[in-house]
Amino acid sequence: MNNIYGITRKDLAEYFFNIGDKVFRSTQVYDWLYKKRVNSFSLMSNLKKEVIEKLSNDFSIDTIEIKKVEHDKDTYKFLFKLNDNNFVEAVLMQHDYGNSVCVSSEVGCNMGCRFCESGRLKKVRNLESYEMVLQLLLIENYLNIRISSVVVMGIGEPFDNYDNLMNFIRIINDDLGLAIGARHITVSTCGLVPKIYDFANENLQVNLALSLHAPNDEIRDKIMPINKVYSVSKVIAAISDYIRKTNRRVTIEYVMLNNVNDSVNDAISLAKLLRGLNVYVNLIPYNETNTLEFKKSSKEQIELFYTTLIKNGINVTIRREFGSKISAACGQLRSKEANK
Ligand code: SAH
Repeated sequence: MNNIYGITRKDLAEYFFNIGDKVFRSTQVYDWLYKKRVNSFSLMSNLKKEVIEKLSNDFSIDTIEIKKVEHDKDTYKFLFKLNDNNFVEAVLMQHDYGNSVCVSSEVGCNMGCRFCESGRLKKVRNLESYEMVLQLLLIENYLNIRISSVVVMGIGEPFDNYDNLMNFIRIINDDLGLAIGARHITVSTCGLVPKIYDFANENLQVNLALSLHAPNDEIRDKIMPINKVYSVSKVIAAISDYIRKTNRRVTIEYVMLNNVNDSVNDAISLAKLLRGLNVYVNLIPYNETNTLEFKKSSKEQIELFYTTLIKNGINVTIRREFGSKISAACGQLRSKEANK
């Protein structure tokens, strides 16, 4: 049965039309779910009894459960228990300009990036749209805050769960849903090339980030198995196409791994690769995990990499470190829970 939190307002309107009811019931239901935040059809008191009964028969309204919260200064990490007893995580970061949340898109991940904790658990299944929506809704309710931006950078490869992802984006972007502006939503991919082409045609103002992490195939092959399928040149071609079609700037993520991809030569190659593209590079200090052998680059090395990119005409920022105390690296919390 479909979960009501995974239905777009448009699909809900169609549902009411098909059962011979008024289309604006969809607006009423959205109001109950996302403004008044009730979690039971029976509380939707402006709906007739028959409508409530019909809804209860046709949709489930089950939620997921916050199983654990870790908190350190401006970062909260949430562990969610899904209805089939799987776990996923989300992280809330409080900035002066608003609250941003990193959500998961899958249980586990099949991409197998060598430095990433999430990939140690192979993909169990896709997250349903409602499970992604509820990560946000429950965080808002728990802390009584409003989320202003969302990044799909938690556990999972969002483009490996494309349809549920797009549905999720439409629900949270809806003014009467969670009303998160498209320009405040970012999808991060390790580079599933065909989906980058699809995404370019969605006609949305959502941001795209590419986890590149290497300036060439030689290095990328070693740390990201997906590169054997879609090489650096293929992924850059797809990004160029995306920029041409959408006129939007793309973020290139680059996690700084000591002695792996952080030399001055690597920075120069990266600058060559990206020259002329409307992108900016986000250098990510690596979050070390207990189970993986990679080390973070030193502050000095990151600075050097940064200035080399600048000198070569590339826009670049260094990401602030969040939550290393609370195992905020993707997958760490889930890993700990699973090891118990
Ligand atoms: N699968 C998507 C989104 C999830 S990963 C993607 O690959 O983009 C989100 C980002 O975190 C990716 O850039 C990933 O490479 C990076 N990442 C994974 N493990 C990390 C760690 N331990 N420290 C820092 N960044 C990490």
